[in-house]
Amino acid sequence: MADRHLFVGQRSLSLAVIAAALSFISGCSLPAARSASPRSFLPEITPNLNPQADSNTSQEKALVAQPNQAYKQAISKLIQQENIQRLNKPIPAEFQGKTFKDIKVNSAIKAVAKGTLDKPSGQDATLKPIALTFDDGPWPSSTVQALDVLKKNNVKATFFVVGRQVQKYPQLAKRIVAEGHAIANHSWSHQYHRYNQVGAANEIDKTADIVYKITGVKTNLFRPPGGILNNGLAAYAQQKKYGVVMWSADSLDWRYHNPNVLINRILKEASTGGIVLMHDGGGDRSKTLRALPQLMGELKKRGYKFVTVPELMEMQQKDKELMARKG
Ligand SMILES: [Zn+2]
Repeated sequence: MADRHLFVGQRSLSLAVIAAALSFISGCSLPAARSASPRSFLPEITPNLNPQADSNTSQEKALVAQPNQAYKQAISKLIQQENIQRLNKPIPAEFQGKTFKDIKVNSAIKAVAKGTLDKPSGQDATLKPIALTFDDGPWPSSTVQALDVLKKNNVKATFFVVGRQVQKYPQLAKRIVAEGHAIANHSWSHQYHRYNQVGAANEIDKTADIVYKITGVKTNLFRPPGGILNNGLAAYAQQKKYGVVMWSADSLDWRYHNPNVLINRILKEASTGGIVLMHDGGGDRSKTLRALPQLMGELKKRGYKFVTVPELMEMQQKDKELMARKG
């Protein structure tokens, strides 16, 4: 959490308390964790200082372990609720019903560099936010792999899910949200033909309904299958005030199965406020997803920081506020 970008809207106090509690539970002795006093709602867990006590029966051990486990579960539930609340916030008005392929977030940084704006306190001018997005899942092997890698690297991404896949693999959709990623709408059946109003409503609303039913998140971002903007789906999504999210860096991972090609393509097209297109479904993408750790490492080396698409939107709002103050 400490390395979240400063532009990203402040999380509510509850998340700070959760973080403190997590630090406490994991045995971390950060002063912040102590001063936030998670003990006020978490009873003291007495450390076992007696080596003799190691001969506890398994039942006793289970009793000792149980509260810890219960706290962890309670806290992960709170974090999940916090994520859902955050994802259910309406997207900024300027993105509602609009189509975009990236989000300009660095006017303030440029103005600081030019000397026309004072550096906002604590702002990291070297930061280059970028959003990784995964389409066509959930998919049994590849989505699990993507989630595992993202978790290991503490990176949050945005998953554009296909409704019928969510119906098939609800646990994976739940996991996407539980692990702090953004979830978004990618139609019910991922077809490329023309849709009338009723057909488009069926594709988009049915997906929104199942995502809500399974995860509690109301989708407000849509990506048309195949990036097709003129077959009725994007028009319906715009009508429903969705932000229609395209991309600025295309891995073409569905075409090329050589990880180096994927990495090089993305590095070439990466940009500040950029949106990277990859796939965790539509087939087993495990081979190309194997490139994900290296790709993230290379992007990090180049000064990129990973955020979700909703976070990029928040960053743009902050960027605009800073520029307005300058004006
Ligand atoms: Zn797709």
